Amino acid sequence: MIYLDNAATTKPCEQAIDAAAAAARDSFGNVSSLHGMGIKSEKLMTSAQNTLLKRLGAKGDIYFTSGATESNNTVLFGVAEAYKRKGKTIISTAAEHPSAARALDKLEEMGYNIIRLSPKDAFDNFEQYVADAVTPDTILVSCMAVNNELGYITDTPKLYRLIKRSHPDVIFHTDGVQGFGKLPLAGDFISVSSHKIHGFKGIGALYAAKGVRFAPLIYGGGQQKNLRPGTEPVELIAAFEAAVNAYPTDLSHFDLLNAALKEHLGVLPGITINSPEKPRGISNIVNFSVEGVRSEIMLHFLEERMIYVSSGSACSKGKVSGVPDAFGISAKNADSAIRVSFSMENTAEDVAALAQALEDGIKRFRR
Ligand code: PLP
Repeated sequence: MIYLDNAATTKPCEQAIDAAAAAARDSFGNVSSLHGMGIKSEKLMTSAQNTLLKRLGAKGDIYFTSGATESNNTVLFGVAEAYKRKGKTIISTAAEHPSAARALDKLEEMGYNIIRLSPKDAFDNFEQYVADAVTPDTILVSCMAVNNELGYITDTPKLYRLIKRSHPDVIFHTDGVQGFGKLPLAGDFISVSSHKIHGFKGIGALYAAKGVRFAPLIYGGGQQKNLRPGTEPVELIAAFEAAVNAYPTDLSHFDLLNAALKEHLGVLPGITINSPEKPRGISNIVNFSVEGVRSEIMLHFLEERMIYVSSGSACSKGKVSGVPDAFGISAKNADSAIRVSFSMENTAEDVAALAQALEDGIKRFRR
């Protein structure tokens, strides 16, 4: 089996599995309990919060959530509610993940003014373009650090600086899911997810800088400062911390895999690379179109050879994505797009096997 769909999810690492098992056996107390078992779990959670803050290089608070979908929804609805007297404009991009994009659609229905900027309109200078769009009525700017479909990078530390320089009281949120562990991230809020870095599904986090406010999405027993109530899943939190600690810091292997794949693709007929080159593109994601072969046909052909990739972006379970257009990718290329996303476990042999399978698929299906 050759797994090349790591932007969708990653295999949990042994350290995460061991940490979850150890927490389940020895640290299963409720964080809210006043006795020793509760205190043990609370310590575990505090340690994980500190590990996340250290990895983000930030000072502030970490709230654990069920994943980045919840983190994104919490920020978007929570900031919109908390700052609604100040303004009603939210600036974002036309390339956001559905967990932000659909929440923004809902806020629009609720009367907020949502501005969605396309990277294709300022491909090389997107940060300045977004910062320049801020109006006096703007309360929030929300932008993903790395696009999950193409690997396009927005330099969030730069964007954060630009926004704060001209509009210090505008809140900036980064959807950091695809960049966490791989790139420097910045924002008043940052969403991250454990299952993209070899932790478990069902656990994510929301970083909040000191002094920023948000209304909770759900109500309950007062946990996590009443801002994200619900009994904290210490087993998942322990696994998240272990995954963060185990995630490598030298990611040059991704560059090698990226170069190897592009070399193979370069000799195949009718291939268009949709992902940007470094420094605009992240090395672990390569999105390309195979002329004349629809994504799903190729995906299932590769699957027969036990090679797992994603259909670039034309659709996710049948739904059309607006993301290709935000990058100026034609509908035809979007329809035949394949996304390959690496983990550090992938090898040059995996890439060669994929290239051979693509060549065979092209011979068989191209009309
Ligand atoms: N944001 C981005 C950029 C993503 O790629 C994903 C997952 O694919 C999410 C948010 C949602 O994360 P989760 O699966 O933790 O809800």
